Order: sequence, then structure tokens, then C-alpha cells
Amino acid sequence: MTPFSYARAASTADAIRMAGEDGRRFLGGGTNLVDLMRRSVEHPAALVDVSALPGTIAARDDGALVIGASARNGVVAAHPLVRTRYPALSRALLAGASAQIRNMATVGGNLMQRTRCAYFYDAAASRCNKREPGSGCDAIGGSNRYHAILGASPSCIATHPSDMCVALAALDAKVQIEGPGGPRTISVLDFHRLPGERPDIETALEPGELIVAVELRPSPLAARMAYRKVRDRASYAFALVSVAAGITFSNGRIDDARIAFGGLAPRPWRAHRAEEALIGAEPSLAAFEAAAEAELAAAAPQPGNAFKVDLARRTLAAVLGELTGDVR
Ligand SMILES: Cc1cc2nc3c(=O)[nH]c(=O)nc-3n(C[C@H](O)[C@H](O)[C@H](O)COP(=O)(O)OP(=O)(O)OC[C@H]3O[C@@H](n4cnc5c(N)ncnc54)[C@H](O)[C@@H]3O)c2cc1C
Ligand code: SF4
Repeated sequence: MTPFSYARAASTADAIRMAGEDGRRFLGGGTNLVDLMRRSVEHPAALVDVSALPGTIAARDDGALVIGASARNGVVAAHPLVRTRYPALSRALLAGASAQIRNMATVGGNLMQRTRCAYFYDAAASRCNKREPGSGCDAIGGSNRYHAILGASPSCIATHPSDMCVALAALDAKVQIEGPGGPRTISVLDFHRLPGERPDIETALEPGELIVAVELRPSPLAARMAYRKVRDRASYAFALVSVAAGITFSNGRIDDARIAFGGLAPRPWRAHRAEEALIGAEPSLAAFEAAAEAELAAAAPQPGNAFKVDLARRTLAAVLGELTGDVR
């Protein structure tokens, strides 16, 4: 590991000021960044620890729930307001990592966590455009069981690994940011970038900007949203496919739907085409499968992950069936 210095920020302003010095990096729980430093994928010369900054979870007067970026994943999952108003977020967090890691990992760090593509981690022997732009991509034509079938590019087919972010995408969460240019709030759907020709640029965060909170609006749909993760082992494994979905219907027709996929794309994948296909339809297995197909028509799988198309279709249909009382 390359030597680095360490300082703990006492306030948001302190963190932003310190990060401006010599390209320092923020440190949340360290469960991803320290791993990447140990593997010589990342080499920050200095870390600004933001884990002591506000991690409060509080309802605002307008009803929104604001979750501080330093809130630990385990604490967020267990919070009564999260469990009752946003059960899919609680489920998604509990589906991730292990209890020990969830007790260290922060909301800000989870939003910023990097892909688990094995070639990205293999700094000694593999070519990776995300680690070293222009060097090539060993996952294309290599081992790509976990890789993307939607939104990838000829430069990079890595998936975004977060469970939490899939729920946030379906919930239309907002990300509150502060930085040298002042505060701003963006939709979580605009936070993660697709790889295009620059897979190394992964988010909309500008240099020196800090995530300070995530904001969620309550709704009947959010309160009934589900999260399901399909993986190789029952625990401690990243998603092959995951689905966060909510649906409402009246007079026998679907009037609203929110769907996001994990494990399929370089970012949490909001399934707008599937949502559109559902609105106005009668809840049925045929309608759910047609919605999945509308979304997955753009899939471009690799030989190692072609199974994901069918798995995603079946998983979405199963989740929607459960939400609508297993209608056929
Ligand atoms: C064995 C293992 C299994 C795992 N399994 C899963 C899983 O199944 N599902 C899943 O979703 N995740 C999983 N994870 C990933 C884990 O959830 C992430 O490592 C964690 O969420 C990162 O949070 P952190 O606070 O530790 O981030 P850190 O490691 O501290 O930081 C990660 C990145 O975020 C940046 N950062 C941190 N805080 C901020 C902030 N406030 N503003 C701006 N940038 C910031 C850092 O600079 C760094 O680039 C697993 C991790 C491990 C080690
Ligand atoms: S898929 Fe992306 S992260 Fe993985 S080796 Fe290729 S460029 Fe690197």
C-alpha cells in the first residue's frame, strides 16, 4: 500500500476545505476504498475521514425523509421510518454484504462504491479501462457472468454493485451535495454515469464535492415497494439480478409503477420502458412479462451472462406478481 496521510473532518465545511488540498479523498466506512488501496487500484495520498459528520435520519416538515450521508447502512436498514415508509430500501440494505460490513459502510460510501469486476481489482495482471483509461477491457471476451447486459459500452461492461442504490433509483431519491461551488441537489437517476468512452468517470460528483444526504418522498407506492435479489449464494454475494418495484392499481388497471434493476447495468437501472408498458394494463403474468421484455429488448449480453435476460424477466414478473396478489 502506498503511504497516505489521514485527517478527520469535524464539520461539512471542514471536510470540503480539506478535500480541496492536494486532491484528497473522502473516507466513509473504508470498506471499499481501503480494499482498493490495499490492492493497488487506488492510491490517494491523503484521506479526509467524513464518518463523524451527521448521519442523522429525520423526517422534514414537508414529509421528506433525510438520511445523512454518514449514516451506517445497518442503522438505516433498521430505522423505523425507513422500514415503514421505504421497506424496499431496508430490504435492499439488508441484502448487501454482511452485518459487520453494514455496520461500517455509510450511505455516501455506498453511493460511491466501485464495481466488483474482478479484472478491475486485478491491478497486477489485467487490462481495465476503468482503472487505466485506454488500456483495454479483459472482461470483454473474458469471464463476464456478473457483467452488464444494458447500458454498457465497448470500453466497459462492468455493473454497479450497490443494492441500496437500486432501491433509491426506484424511489426517485434525491442526493444532496455540497462543495466548493456551494450546495446542490440532484436526482439519484442522474448521479451515476454510463461508461461511454470514459468508464473511469462514474458519477456526476465534481472534484471536492461531498455527498451530505439522501432525500426521500413518502407515497403509498413507496410504502409497498419490494426488493428481491438473485445471487449465487444466499448471503454475502453481489446480485446477478435484483429488482426494486412498486405498483398501484385501481378499477382493475395499473395506474402507477416504479421499477429499477440491479446487476444488469453500469448504474442502477431505472426501467422506464417497463413502467410505461404497465400503465393502463390489467395486472397479469402476461402484462408483467411484456413489461420486462419491453425493457430487455435493448439487452446486449456477453456469452457468459446471456442467462441474465431470462432471469431478469422472471424476477420482475415474480416481484410484480407478489405485489399484485399473484394475479394470473
Ligand atoms: C465482502 C464485501 C461484500 C459486499 N457485498 C455487498 C453487497 O452485496 N451489496 C452491496 O450493495 N454492497 C456490498 N458491499 C459493498 C459495501 O456496501 C461498500 O463497500 C460500502 O457501501 C462502501 O461504503 P463505505 O462507507 O465503507 O465507503 P468507503 O470505502 O469509505 O468509500 C467508498 C467511496 O466513497 C467515497 N465517499 C465516501 N463517503 C463519501 C461522501 N460522503 N461524499 C463523497 N464521496 C464519499 C470515497 O472517497 C470512496 O471513493 C460489499 C463489500 C464487501 C467488502
Ligand atoms: S468491464 Fe470495465 S471494470 Fe471490468 S475490466 Fe472492463 S473496463 Fe475494467
